[in-house]
Amino acid sequence: MSMRTVDEHLAGILRAVPLLPPLELALLEAEGAVLAEPVEAPVPLPPFDNSAMDGYAVVAADVAAAGETEPVVLPVIGDIAAGDPAVSAIRPGLAARIMTGAPMPAGADAVIPVEWTDGGTASVRITRPAPPGHYIRRAGEDVLAGQVVAEPGLRLRAAQLGMLAAVGRARVMVRPRPRVVVLSTGTELREPGAPLAPGQIWESNSFMLTAAVIEAGAVGYRQATVGDEPEKVWETVQDQLGRADAIITSGGVSMGARDVVKEVFSAFGAAGGRGPDAGAGGAAGAAGPGWVEFSKVAMRPGKPQGFGLLHGTPIFTLPGNPVSAYVSFQVFVRPALRAMQGLPPDPLPTVGAVLTEDLKSPAGLRHFVRGRLSSGRGFFSVTPAERQGSHQLGSLSSADALIVLREDDEAIPAGSHVDVLRLPS
Ligand code: AMP
Ligand code: MG
Repeated sequence: MSMRTVDEHLAGILRAVPLLPPLELALLEAEGAVLAEPVEAPVPLPPFDNSAMDGYAVVAADVAAAGETEPVVLPVIGDIAAGDPAVSAIRPGLAARIMTGAPMPAGADAVIPVEWTDGGTASVRITRPAPPGHYIRRAGEDVLAGQVVAEPGLRLRAAQLGMLAAVGRARVMVRPRPRVVVLSTGTELREPGAPLAPGQIWESNSFMLTAAVIEAGAVGYRQATVGDEPEKVWETVQDQLGRADAIITSGGVSMGARDVVKEVFSAFGAAGGRGPDAGAGGAAGAAGPGWVEFSKVAMRPGKPQGFGLLHGTPIFTLPGNPVSAYVSFQVFVRPALRAMQGLPPDPLPTVGAVLTEDLKSPAGLRHFVRGRLSSGRGFFSVTPAERQGSHQLGSLSSADALIVLREDDEAIPAGSHVDVLRLPS
């Protein structure tokens, strides 16, 4: 079993994960997906000159002398509502009542908001002047016809979906959110809600990891937990390959006598054949049954890791200790899921912070220390949690940050500047 750095392990994963093929989705199904085509506006936005206010369309010159004491009174020839066809017109000396979004009548060159008038319907008293163009939204002032409003690689959130709808798109080509199956292994694990027998604990990783998948912008499917039985683990993973773009397992990858995931997939890797360095990543893996490589990564928590491709589908075999599984997800799986959608494989957002307490860190390992951030006087400070055991979920659930200590950090005094990953809140 090889030993490698965090960066080496992540680089190997990013080289191997396949890009999801684009598909066409209806707009709302595309929320969180990544655009795979440039989208052009077929018409200008707005498509026609229209009123920015409820008020009166007028000829600006007619109201140039209007004031509180000398109002201008104009006959109102009718109403123009949003949705009316753009066929009306006015002549100098006349006004038309107009609603927000309604097409400007030909001949008018300003809109007087209703607040500057008496709101009259047969005739209107106008008490303030307005320059030509006032409160008119011009055709094309938002988007020009033919303009590209969204480029490939754009993640579609609310505002971007609104833009696509506004240029008339009902469907778009996207790289969808990856579908990720999460599977826990361990004979000692019971479903939350079920009573515990001696030696048992409630299963937590699959809930945590499925939620983390969703937080990362992918689709999470929690799969029932499997005991430490090689055939069951094998069968379950094979069953899930059909619906998964990626698989995450937890447990069974360290140095124990019954490390079921390692047992199953080491055999598979040996039979099927190729490691991450043997060929051109995803495409090559897709041809054969695949490979899974187990390694020690120089990090704490999360040393035992495994990654591979089964029939082209990435499988991340994370360690079972809950904090190890969580940190491994954030450090390796999250960037990989982004890469599969064609997004930059960014880590969690990082901020610089001042450490409030002395810390020690093992030489040669990248150390992820749970902590809490606080901000004040223009900078962040971060306080490490008291308990840092990889089984201690309590201190993870009350943390909002992971302090990242580098491989060459050993004693880090209070007051040092450290990098901090902000956990999704
Ligand atoms: P393993 O990696 O399978 O040796 O598990 C390491 C430790 O994590 C053991 O104490 C397991 O009981 C615990 N563990 C493994 N999987 C889970 C899980 N899904 N939920 C909670 N604890 C787990
Ligand atoms: Mg186990």
